Amino acid sequence: MIWDELETSLAQLADEGLLRRRRTLDAPCGPEAVIDGQRLIAFCSNDYLGLANHPALIAAAQEAAAHWGVGSGASHAVSGHLRPHAELEERLAVFVGRERALYFTTGYMANLAIVPALVDRHDAIFADRLNHASLIDTALLARAEHIRYPHGDLDWLADRLARSQARRKLILTDAVFSMDGDLAPLPDLFDLAERFDAWLVVDDAHGFGVLGPNGRGSLAHFALPASPRLILMGTLGKAAGVSGAFAAGNPRVIEWLMQRGRPYIFTTASSPVIAAALLASLELIVAGDDRRAHLQALIARLRAGLDGLPWRLLPSLTAIQPLVIGDNQAAVALAERLLAQGLWVPAIRPPTVPAGTARLRISLSAAHTTAQVDALLAALRDCVDRAA
Ligand SMILES: *Cc1c(COP(=O)(O)O)cnc(C)c1O
Repeated sequence: MIWDELETSLAQLADEGLLRRRRTLDAPCGPEAVIDGQRLIAFCSNDYLGLANHPALIAAAQEAAAHWGVGSGASHAVSGHLRPHAELEERLAVFVGRERALYFTTGYMANLAIVPALVDRHDAIFADRLNHASLIDTALLARAEHIRYPHGDLDWLADRLARSQARRKLILTDAVFSMDGDLAPLPDLFDLAERFDAWLVVDDAHGFGVLGPNGRGSLAHFALPASPRLILMGTLGKAAGVSGAFAAGNPRVIEWLMQRGRPYIFTTASSPVIAAALLASLELIVAGDDRRAHLQALIARLRAGLDGLPWRLLPSLTAIQPLVIGDNQAAVALAERLLAQGLWVPAIRPPTVPAGTARLRISLSAAHTTAQVDALLAALRDCVDRAA
Protein backbone atom coordinates (compact mmCIF):
# COMPACT_ATOMS: atom_id res chain seq x y z
CA MET A 1 0.00 0.00 0.00
CA ILE A 2 0.99 3.58 -0.60
CA TRP A 3 1.46 4.21 3.15
CA ASP A 4 3.56 1.14 4.00
CA GLU A 5 6.86 2.91 3.47
CA LEU A 6 5.88 5.47 6.09
CA GLU A 7 6.16 2.73 8.73
CA THR A 8 9.75 2.05 7.69
CA SER A 9 10.56 5.74 7.57
CA LEU A 10 9.09 6.39 11.00
CA ALA A 11 11.01 3.43 12.45
CA GLN A 12 14.17 4.80 10.86
CA LEU A 13 13.62 8.22 12.45
CA ALA A 14 13.17 6.50 15.81
CA ASP A 15 16.40 4.50 15.30
CA GLU A 16 18.35 7.63 14.51
CA GLY A 17 17.02 9.46 17.56
CA LEU A 18 15.24 11.93 15.33
CA LEU A 19 11.63 11.48 16.37
CA ARG A 20 10.10 14.70 17.61
CA ARG A 21 7.98 14.33 20.67
CA ARG A 22 5.47 16.96 21.71
CA ARG A 23 4.69 17.54 25.35
CA THR A 24 1.42 19.00 26.51
CA LEU A 25 1.78 21.83 28.99
CA ASP A 26 -0.70 22.38 31.78
CA ALA A 27 0.48 25.87 32.67
CA PRO A 28 0.96 29.11 30.68
CA CYS A 29 4.25 29.82 28.92
CA GLY A 30 6.77 30.88 31.57
CA PRO A 31 9.91 29.77 33.40
CA GLU A 32 7.88 27.16 35.28
CA ALA A 33 6.20 24.57 33.11
CA VAL A 34 3.88 21.80 34.24
CA ILE A 35 3.90 18.52 32.30
CA ASP A 36 2.11 15.36 33.45
CA GLY A 37 1.79 16.89 36.91
CA GLN A 38 5.55 17.53 37.11
CA ARG A 39 6.78 21.08 37.70
CA LEU A 40 9.81 21.94 35.56
CA ILE A 41 12.07 24.94 35.12
CA ALA A 42 11.89 25.52 31.38
CA PHE A 43 14.71 26.86 29.19
CA CYS A 44 12.87 26.25 25.94
CA SER A 45 10.71 29.16 24.94
CA ASN A 46 11.55 32.19 22.82
CA ASP A 47 9.61 34.39 25.23
CA TYR A 48 12.83 36.33 25.85
CA LEU A 49 11.28 39.20 27.78
CA GLY A 50 8.73 37.16 29.71
CA LEU A 51 5.72 38.89 28.12
CA ALA A 52 3.69 35.88 26.92
CA ASN A 53 1.73 35.74 30.15
CA HIS A 54 2.04 39.37 31.24
CA PRO A 55 -1.03 40.93 32.93
CA ALA A 56 -0.94 44.02 30.67
CA LEU A 57 -1.13 41.87 27.54
CA ILE A 58 -3.89 39.72 29.02
CA ALA A 59 -5.90 42.82 29.94
CA ALA A 60 -5.44 44.29 26.43
CA ALA A 61 -6.57 41.03 24.88
CA GLN A 62 -9.64 40.81 27.13
CA GLU A 63 -10.62 44.38 26.39
CA ALA A 64 -10.11 43.87 22.66
CA ALA A 65 -12.18 40.70 22.68
CA ALA A 66 -15.03 42.60 24.32
CA HIS A 67 -14.75 45.49 21.84
CA TRP A 68 -13.72 43.84 18.57
CA GLY A 69 -14.82 40.24 18.96
CA VAL A 70 -12.39 37.42 18.34
CA GLY A 71 -12.43 36.82 14.59
CA SER A 72 -11.45 39.16 11.76
CA GLY A 73 -13.79 37.43 9.31
CA ALA A 74 -11.76 37.84 6.12
CA SER A 75 -8.34 38.49 4.67
CA HIS A 76 -6.74 41.91 5.14
CA ALA A 77 -7.35 42.74 1.48
CA VAL A 78 -11.09 42.05 1.70
CA SER A 79 -12.59 43.16 5.02
CA GLY A 80 -10.43 41.67 7.79
CA HIS A 81 -8.16 44.68 8.35
CA LEU A 82 -9.47 46.17 11.59
CA ARG A 83 -8.34 49.28 13.45
CA PRO A 84 -6.04 47.36 15.88
CA HIS A 85 -4.19 45.87 12.88
CA ALA A 86 -3.78 49.30 11.29
CA GLU A 87 -2.55 50.85 14.53
CA LEU A 88 -0.13 48.01 15.08
CA GLU A 89 1.44 48.53 11.64
CA GLU A 90 1.90 52.23 12.32
CA ARG A 91 3.51 51.66 15.72
CA LEU A 92 5.74 48.87 14.42
CA ALA A 93 7.11 51.09 11.64
CA VAL A 94 7.94 53.86 14.10
CA PHE A 95 9.43 51.40 16.57
CA VAL A 96 11.88 49.84 14.09
CA GLY A 97 12.63 53.18 12.41
CA ARG A 98 11.34 52.25 8.96
CA GLU A 99 8.76 54.12 6.91
CA ARG A 100 6.06 51.47 6.68
CA ALA A 101 5.26 48.06 8.12
CA LEU A 102 2.97 45.25 7.01
CA TYR A 103 1.61 42.85 9.62
CA PHE A 104 1.53 39.10 8.89
CA THR A 105 -0.13 36.20 10.70
CA THR A 106 3.14 34.32 11.27
CA GLY A 107 6.82 34.78 10.56
CA TYR A 108 6.84 31.69 8.40
CA MET A 109 4.19 33.25 6.18
CA ALA A 110 5.95 36.62 6.13
CA ASN A 111 9.07 34.96 4.80
CA LEU A 112 7.09 32.97 2.24
CA ALA A 113 5.51 36.24 1.07
CA ILE A 114 8.51 38.57 0.94
CA VAL A 115 11.06 36.69 -1.15
CA PRO A 116 8.86 35.38 -4.00
CA ALA A 117 7.39 38.89 -4.33
CA LEU A 118 10.88 40.24 -5.08
CA VAL A 119 12.63 37.55 -7.13
CA ASP A 120 11.66 34.72 -9.45
CA ARG A 121 13.24 32.05 -11.64
CA HIS A 122 15.39 34.55 -13.58
CA ASP A 123 17.02 35.69 -10.37
CA ALA A 124 19.41 34.50 -7.66
CA ILE A 125 19.13 34.29 -3.88
CA PHE A 126 22.31 34.34 -1.79
CA ALA A 127 21.52 32.76 1.54
CA ASP A 128 23.55 32.00 4.65
CA ARG A 129 23.89 28.26 5.13
CA LEU A 130 22.53 28.45 8.68
CA ASN A 131 19.37 30.38 7.77
CA HIS A 132 16.07 29.37 9.35
CA ALA A 133 13.98 26.71 7.57
CA SER A 134 11.39 29.29 6.52
CA LEU A 135 14.07 31.16 4.55
CA ILE A 136 15.05 27.95 2.78
CA ASP A 137 11.42 27.26 1.94
CA THR A 138 10.83 30.73 0.58
CA ALA A 139 13.85 30.39 -1.70
CA LEU A 140 12.35 27.18 -3.08
CA LEU A 141 8.98 28.87 -3.51
CA ALA A 142 10.58 31.76 -5.42
CA ARG A 143 12.18 29.24 -7.83
CA ALA A 144 15.24 31.47 -8.05
CA GLU A 145 18.75 30.05 -8.14
CA HIS A 146 19.53 29.30 -4.48
CA ILE A 147 23.16 29.93 -3.62
CA ARG A 148 23.93 29.05 -0.01
CA TYR A 149 27.13 30.62 1.30
CA PRO A 150 29.21 29.22 4.17
CA HIS A 151 28.04 30.76 7.44
CA GLY A 152 29.14 34.40 7.57
CA ASP A 153 31.72 33.99 4.76
CA LEU A 154 31.68 37.44 3.16
CA ASP A 155 34.56 36.80 0.72
CA TRP A 156 32.82 33.73 -0.66
CA LEU A 157 29.60 35.70 -0.95
CA ALA A 158 31.26 38.72 -2.63
CA ASP A 159 32.92 36.42 -5.15
CA ARG A 160 29.64 34.72 -6.06
CA LEU A 161 27.77 38.03 -6.26
CA ALA A 162 30.46 39.35 -8.61
CA ARG A 163 30.22 36.31 -10.88
CA SER A 164 26.43 36.05 -10.93
CA GLN A 165 24.65 36.70 -14.22
CA ALA A 166 21.25 36.76 -12.53
CA ARG A 167 18.84 39.49 -13.51
CA ARG A 168 18.15 40.40 -9.88
CA LYS A 169 20.03 39.41 -6.75
CA LEU A 170 18.73 39.05 -3.21
CA ILE A 171 20.79 38.47 -0.07
CA LEU A 172 18.83 36.59 2.58
CA THR A 173 19.91 36.19 6.19
CA ASP A 174 18.87 35.64 9.76
CA ALA A 175 20.00 38.60 11.89
CA VAL A 176 20.46 36.33 14.92
CA PHE A 177 20.94 32.70 13.91
CA SER A 178 18.23 30.73 15.61
CA MET A 179 20.20 27.62 16.57
CA ASP A 180 23.57 29.31 17.18
CA GLY A 181 22.65 32.67 18.69
CA ASP A 182 25.34 34.61 16.82
CA LEU A 183 24.77 37.78 14.77
CA ALA A 184 25.05 38.15 11.00
CA PRO A 185 27.54 40.84 9.85
CA LEU A 186 24.67 43.07 8.74
CA PRO A 187 26.71 46.23 7.93
CA ASP A 188 28.99 44.21 5.63
CA LEU A 189 26.02 42.48 4.02
CA PHE A 190 24.42 45.86 3.45
CA ASP A 191 27.63 47.14 1.79
CA LEU A 192 27.64 44.09 -0.50
CA ALA A 193 23.97 44.67 -1.33
CA GLU A 194 24.81 48.27 -2.30
CA ARG A 195 27.86 47.25 -4.30
CA PHE A 196 26.02 44.58 -6.29
CA ASP A 197 22.62 46.27 -6.42
CA ALA A 198 20.94 43.46 -4.50
CA TRP A 199 17.97 43.29 -2.16
CA LEU A 200 18.86 42.57 1.45
CA VAL A 201 16.17 40.71 3.42
CA VAL A 202 16.91 40.39 7.14
CA ASP A 203 14.96 38.04 9.41
CA ASP A 204 15.17 39.49 12.92
CA ALA A 205 13.03 36.89 14.72
CA HIS A 206 15.46 36.71 17.65
CA GLY A 207 16.78 40.28 17.75
CA PHE A 208 13.45 42.11 17.83
CA GLY A 209 12.70 43.29 21.38
CA VAL A 210 16.07 42.13 22.65
CA LEU A 211 18.85 43.91 20.75
CA GLY A 212 19.44 47.58 20.04
CA PRO A 213 18.30 50.66 21.95
CA ASN A 214 14.84 50.01 23.49
CA GLY A 215 14.91 46.57 21.89
CA ARG A 216 14.39 48.05 18.43
CA GLY A 217 16.19 45.07 16.96
CA SER A 218 19.29 44.10 15.02
CA LEU A 219 19.14 46.89 12.43
CA ALA A 220 19.08 49.43 15.26
CA HIS A 221 21.85 47.51 17.05
CA PHE A 222 24.05 48.10 13.98
CA ALA A 223 22.49 51.53 13.29
CA LEU A 224 21.69 50.52 9.70
CA PRO A 225 19.97 53.34 7.81
CA ALA A 226 16.63 52.98 6.07
CA SER A 227 17.13 52.02 2.43
CA PRO A 228 14.74 50.88 -0.29
CA ARG A 229 16.85 47.75 -0.81
CA LEU A 230 16.71 46.74 2.87
CA ILE A 231 13.65 44.79 4.04
CA LEU A 232 13.32 43.91 7.71
CA MET A 233 11.22 40.95 8.84
CA GLY A 234 10.51 40.66 12.54
CA THR A 235 8.41 38.10 14.38
CA LEU A 236 6.04 38.83 17.24
CA GLY A 237 5.72 35.39 18.82
CA LYS A 238 9.15 35.50 20.48
CA ALA A 239 10.28 38.50 22.54
CA ALA A 240 6.95 40.22 21.84
CA GLY A 241 5.24 37.29 23.54
CA VAL A 242 2.20 36.92 21.26
CA SER A 243 2.22 35.80 17.61
CA GLY A 244 2.51 37.24 14.14
CA ALA A 245 5.22 39.05 12.23
CA PHE A 246 5.87 42.09 10.09
CA ALA A 247 7.84 43.30 7.12
CA ALA A 248 9.17 46.87 7.29
CA GLY A 249 10.95 49.15 4.89
CA ASN A 250 10.42 51.58 2.06
CA PRO A 251 6.70 52.39 1.54
CA ARG A 252 6.71 51.42 -2.16
CA VAL A 253 8.38 48.12 -1.41
CA ILE A 254 5.90 47.38 1.38
CA GLU A 255 3.04 48.34 -0.94
CA TRP A 256 4.37 45.82 -3.45
CA LEU A 257 4.49 43.08 -0.80
CA MET A 258 0.88 43.87 0.08
CA GLN A 259 -0.14 43.69 -3.59
CA ARG A 260 1.89 40.61 -4.47
CA GLY A 261 2.62 38.59 -1.32
CA ARG A 262 0.42 35.54 -1.77
CA PRO A 263 0.67 34.34 1.85
CA TYR A 264 -0.44 37.84 2.81
CA ILE A 265 -3.38 38.02 0.45
CA PHE A 266 -4.83 34.52 0.59
CA THR A 267 -5.25 34.02 4.30
CA THR A 268 -7.66 35.22 6.95
CA ALA A 269 -6.37 38.17 8.97
CA SER A 270 -5.38 37.08 12.46
CA SER A 271 -7.60 38.01 15.38
CA PRO A 272 -7.83 41.68 16.38
CA VAL A 273 -7.29 40.38 19.92
CA ILE A 274 -3.74 39.43 18.93
CA ALA A 275 -3.10 42.87 17.45
CA ALA A 276 -4.36 44.55 20.62
CA ALA A 277 -2.14 42.36 22.80
CA LEU A 278 0.78 43.28 20.56
CA LEU A 279 0.10 46.99 20.99
CA ALA A 280 0.40 46.48 24.75
CA SER A 281 3.50 44.38 24.23
CA LEU A 282 5.21 47.11 22.18
CA GLU A 283 4.80 49.55 25.06
CA LEU A 284 6.44 47.11 27.47
CA ILE A 285 9.24 46.42 25.00
CA VAL A 286 10.04 50.14 24.61
CA ALA A 287 10.08 50.53 28.40
CA GLY A 288 11.85 47.21 28.90
CA ASP A 289 15.44 48.21 29.62
CA ASP A 290 15.27 46.56 33.05
CA ARG A 291 14.07 43.33 31.49
CA ARG A 292 16.85 43.44 28.90
CA ALA A 293 19.49 44.22 31.55
CA HIS A 294 18.34 41.27 33.66
CA LEU A 295 18.43 39.02 30.59
CA GLN A 296 21.99 40.13 29.80
CA ALA A 297 23.03 39.45 33.40
CA LEU A 298 21.57 35.93 33.19
CA ILE A 299 23.38 35.32 29.89
CA ALA A 300 26.70 36.39 31.43
CA ARG A 301 26.08 34.22 34.50
CA LEU A 302 25.22 31.15 32.44
CA ARG A 303 28.26 31.55 30.20
CA ALA A 304 30.62 32.03 33.12
CA GLY A 305 29.12 29.00 34.86
CA LEU A 306 29.42 26.74 31.81
CA ASP A 307 33.10 27.51 31.41
CA GLY A 308 35.16 24.38 31.93
CA LEU A 309 32.40 21.88 31.15
CA PRO A 310 33.29 19.29 28.48
CA TRP A 311 30.82 20.58 25.90
CA ARG A 312 31.33 23.38 23.40
CA LEU A 313 29.40 26.54 24.23
CA LEU A 314 28.91 28.55 21.05
CA PRO A 315 30.00 32.21 21.11
CA SER A 316 26.57 33.81 21.50
CA LEU A 317 25.74 37.03 23.27
CA THR A 318 22.00 36.60 22.79
CA ALA A 319 19.32 34.75 24.76
CA ILE A 320 20.05 31.64 22.64
CA GLN A 321 22.88 29.72 24.31
CA PRO A 322 23.70 26.50 22.46
CA LEU A 323 25.76 23.82 24.14
CA VAL A 324 27.03 21.48 21.42
CA ILE A 325 27.07 17.82 22.47
CA GLY A 326 27.64 16.32 18.99
CA ASP A 327 25.97 12.92 18.94
CA ASN A 328 22.15 12.81 18.63
CA GLN A 329 21.56 10.15 21.26
CA ALA A 330 24.04 11.74 23.69
CA ALA A 331 22.25 15.07 23.40
CA VAL A 332 18.89 13.40 24.02
CA ALA A 333 20.30 11.43 26.98
CA LEU A 334 21.65 14.60 28.57
CA ALA A 335 18.33 16.40 28.05
CA GLU A 336 16.55 13.46 29.70
CA ARG A 337 18.84 13.50 32.70
CA LEU A 338 18.16 17.18 33.17
CA LEU A 339 14.45 16.53 32.82
CA ALA A 340 14.65 13.94 35.58
CA GLN A 341 16.06 16.71 37.76
CA GLY A 342 13.20 19.06 36.89
CA LEU A 343 15.00 21.05 34.20
CA TRP A 344 13.63 21.26 30.69
CA VAL A 345 16.16 22.09 27.97
CA PRO A 346 15.43 20.99 24.40
CA ALA A 347 17.88 18.78 22.51
CA ILE A 348 18.10 20.07 18.93
CA ARG A 349 19.11 17.55 16.30
CA PRO A 350 19.54 17.34 12.53
CA PRO A 351 18.00 18.38 10.21
CA THR A 352 17.42 21.49 12.34
CA VAL A 353 21.20 21.70 12.86
CA PRO A 354 24.07 20.18 10.81
CA ALA A 355 24.82 16.47 11.38
CA GLY A 356 27.21 15.88 14.28
CA THR A 357 26.27 19.10 16.05
CA ALA A 358 23.28 18.00 18.13
CA ARG A 359 22.99 20.42 20.99
CA LEU A 360 21.13 21.61 24.01
CA ARG A 361 19.57 24.91 23.06
CA ILE A 362 19.35 26.79 26.32
CA SER A 363 17.12 29.77 25.88
CA LEU A 364 16.99 32.36 28.58
CA SER A 365 14.25 34.81 29.40
CA ALA A 366 14.05 37.93 31.50
CA ALA A 367 11.41 35.99 33.44
CA HIS A 368 14.06 33.55 34.74
CA THR A 369 15.56 34.15 38.17
CA THR A 370 19.24 33.93 38.97
CA ALA A 371 18.44 30.91 41.16
CA GLN A 372 16.86 29.10 38.19
CA VAL A 373 19.98 29.61 36.08
CA ASP A 374 22.12 28.43 38.98
CA ALA A 375 19.97 25.30 39.28
CA LEU A 376 20.65 24.50 35.62
CA LEU A 377 24.39 25.03 36.07
CA ALA A 378 24.46 22.78 39.14
CA ALA A 379 22.57 20.03 37.32
CA LEU A 380 24.90 20.17 34.30
CA ARG A 381 27.96 19.96 36.56
CA ASP A 382 26.35 17.02 38.32
CA CYS A 383 25.90 15.23 34.95
CA VAL A 384 29.61 15.68 34.25
CA ASP A 385 30.66 14.43 37.71
CA ARG A 386 28.51 11.35 37.40
CA ALA A 387 29.84 10.55 33.93
CA ALA A 388 33.43 10.87 35.22
C1 LIG B 1 10.59 31.46 14.61
C2 LIG B 1 11.23 31.94 13.35
C3 LIG B 1 10.49 32.19 12.21
C4 LIG B 1 9.02 31.87 12.11
O1 LIG B 1 8.26 32.77 12.80
P1 LIG B 1 6.81 32.31 13.30
O2 LIG B 1 6.14 33.59 13.64
O3 LIG B 1 7.05 31.43 14.46
O4 LIG B 1 6.16 31.61 12.16
C5 LIG B 1 11.13 32.74 11.12
N1 LIG B 1 12.46 32.98 11.14
C6 LIG B 1 13.21 32.71 12.22
C7 LIG B 1 14.67 32.99 12.18
C8 LIG B 1 12.63 32.16 13.35
O5 LIG B 1 13.37 31.85 14.40
